[in-house]
Amino acid sequence: MTTVCDVDIAVVGGGVVGATLANLLLRQARIAPQRLVLLEPEVVLPLPAAAPLDLRVWALSRASQRILQAAGAWSLLDLSRIEPYEAMCVWHEGSAADSADALRFAAADSGESDLGAIVEVRAAQTALLSAYAAAGGSVRRESVQGLTQTADAVRLQLSTGTLTARLVVAADGAASPVRGYAGIAVQERSYGQQAIVAALSCQYPHQHTAWQVFLPTGPLALLPQSDGSCSLVWSAVNDEAQRLLALDAGAFGHALTRATGGVLGELSLLSERLHFPLRRLTAEHFVAGRCALIGDAAHVIHPLAGQGVNQGLLDAAVLCEALVNRPAHEDVGARAALRRYERERRLGNALMATMVDGLDRLLTGAPGIGGRLAREGMAQVARNVGLRRWFAAQAMGTQGPLPQAARAL
Ligand SMILES: Cc1cc2nc3c(=O)[nH]c(=O)nc-3n(C[C@H](O)[C@H](O)[C@H](O)COP(=O)(O)OP(=O)(O)OC[C@H]3O[C@@H](n4cnc5c(N)ncnc54)[C@H](O)[C@@H]3O)c2cc1C
Repeated sequence: MTTVCDVDIAVVGGGVVGATLANLLLRQARIAPQRLVLLEPEVVLPLPAAAPLDLRVWALSRASQRILQAAGAWSLLDLSRIEPYEAMCVWHEGSAADSADALRFAAADSGESDLGAIVEVRAAQTALLSAYAAAGGSVRRESVQGLTQTADAVRLQLSTGTLTARLVVAADGAASPVRGYAGIAVQERSYGQQAIVAALSCQYPHQHTAWQVFLPTGPLALLPQSDGSCSLVWSAVNDEAQRLLALDAGAFGHALTRATGGVLGELSLLSERLHFPLRRLTAEHFVAGRCALIGDAAHVIHPLAGQGVNQGLLDAAVLCEALVNRPAHEDVGARAALRRYERERRLGNALMATMVDGLDRLLTGAPGIGGRLAREGMAQVARNVGLRRWFAAQAMGTQGPLPQAARAL
């Protein structure tokens, strides 16, 4: 006898990836709001319009912008707080940002207006939750505390009782409790680095450009912001990160100005410094029975290419598309559609993680022969227009087969 389920789909985790999937399911897969639930214990409040820019921002690719559009959230964002970035400049410490060896690529080379946009994390999350509420979706402020699976249903243990669903999607972040309850193992290793995040004022205009220098201790990125400031993501090996965090604001500003070769003049801190330990994590399976993993629950990579959430949004779009295209007689948790999702996104994530790790290994490390080779390699790329376009397409996320939600309208 078939189990009667409370809902068809339970999405666990209302971060940006889970909230995007919930919206796509309502809007593109036409799941009825009463057959879907989003479980998220935390309440996230929107920032007041006049508040300074949030410290946590992301570089979102063109593909991700389109997915947020399809999810009904992009139009709810305050565009005056978003910075479209038109170009990227990447160089190695051994050369200079304005040398012929620096790799520069611009959206204009591919006939586009921008490579992507710098968006506040909190703004993206609250816009997604508003879009979801506007489409009739409901959020239960509960956390998942366990699960059991049968052939045709998943039973979730919640703080206040149980909930049954045909499909459970875990979007509950890198520590994903649901991944553990579903018995999915992970491969994990530390990069041995911390990312220091802060808001900065710059002496010179940022030129709507994302800047990144590879130092022997790790990459340092300056992301342009809509108010003329820059957002810092300085990844450094643990000892160096501890040293930098212990500096007072003035000494930290000097260290930054020196490390960036003065590319934007004097840099100084406008905020506190947050720091995040960096690790690589890949779930051994993205699907187990009627449970699927998306976003950081499935994969975590180094932030040097700004691709973590961009990959998570592709997971959401591909999973939604696999469910839309499943044969009419199959329920939403049936194996074939979930396997299609797993095959496609394991491959996409593996390729991205390999590229990101390769860049980290090649460009971070002691100066010397490795550094010289890396510098020469970057110089070769800098001189090759085809390769520059390829890098621009990677940043825009428009390379390769894309789910419908990520394609140009
Ligand atoms: C320094 C830094 C800079 C970065 N910059 C970029 C960038 O520029 N571009 C980019 O694409 N990516 C970037 N990333 C990566 C990005 O931050 C992550 O990929 C993204 O946050 C993952 O989103 P998520 O929704 O999968 O998980 P999360 O944001 O972690 O959300 C998980 C949600 O699940 C909820 N939850 C947890 N447990 C439970 C439970 N038991 N039950 C119910 N709900 C639960 C949590 O409350 C949370 O809301 C960066 C990362 C770092 C560290």
